Amino acid sequence: ATLPALVPGTRRSVSPSAKPILELSDIHKAFNGKTVLNGINLAVRPGEIISIIGPSGSGKTTLIRTINGLETLDGGTVRLLGNDFIEAGQAENALAWRSNITKLGMVFQGFNLFPHKTVLENLMLAPHLHFEEQRESLKQRCLAMLDKVGMLEHANKYPHQLSGGQQQRVAIARTLVMRPSVVLFDEPTSALDPERVSEVLDVIARLAQEGITMLIVTHEMKFAFTISDRVVFMEHGNIEVDAAPSAILQMREHRINRFIQDMAT
Ligand code: ADP
Repeated sequence: ATLPALVPGTRRSVSPSAKPILELSDIHKAFNGKTVLNGINLAVRPGEIISIIGPSGSGKTTLIRTINGLETLDGGTVRLLGNDFIEAGQAENALAWRSNITKLGMVFQGFNLFPHKTVLENLMLAPHLHFEEQRESLKQRCLAMLDKVGMLEHANKYPHQLSGGQQQRVAIARTLVMRPSVVLFDEPTSALDPERVSEVLDVIARLAQEGITMLIVTHEMKFAFTISDRVVFMEHGNIEVDAAPSAILQMREHRINRFIQDMAT
């Protein structure tokens, strides 16, 4: 059997000596006594694109959710921009959390747009609450962001008037107007009709070229191997492989390649 034709991307390399912008140390998490994250270590450098792949139930989504405080930790630390951000037993460390949370953007599977607000209002809401920015300048910034994701002409529509792919592009723009240091994507295309997947992946790939730091849980192997600096393969709550796409494609006998092949067929 041959591997699918995955061509590792040619991204400008991120300096290995750059200080991590996001650092996970020995993250543990269990649900009802069942270990879901079993000591995860991961350092993300500025501008790095990291895709997280692995079988269903391996802990990918839980990992993403612990990073931004949607799940509490049972052990370990999440450090953002060199600051301790979340620690086990300190989920209530609300002040540190709040001062940092806008630095982390999150894009969900299910878009999570506010249904009763227009596209433009969806973008303006959070920056309006968090930043002291003149309304007109914020509005122009949001319109420019909508233009960037190809949604400018839909600025005054409501989410229900849009396709899933369009809603997800709006959700990405809404995340970016907060100027996050790191954007977390939790299976951003898994709720989309197949014909809508590529328009969202294209937007993410374009943003990747701009140097935005990203951590992406995805089942889209071709996408992951094309845009990522590193691909992380999770299994049973552990990181089994953390390597450049080209290095992974050479691990011929490794489970990760069987997994990639299964996903692509
Ligand atoms: P993946 O994203 O790799 O598919 P998840 O992180 O969604 O994996 O899930 C890992 C495991 O944790 C699964 O067995 C799932 O059922 C379990 N799990 C996730 N969230 C919860 C929860 N809130 N309560 C109980 N179990 C959960």
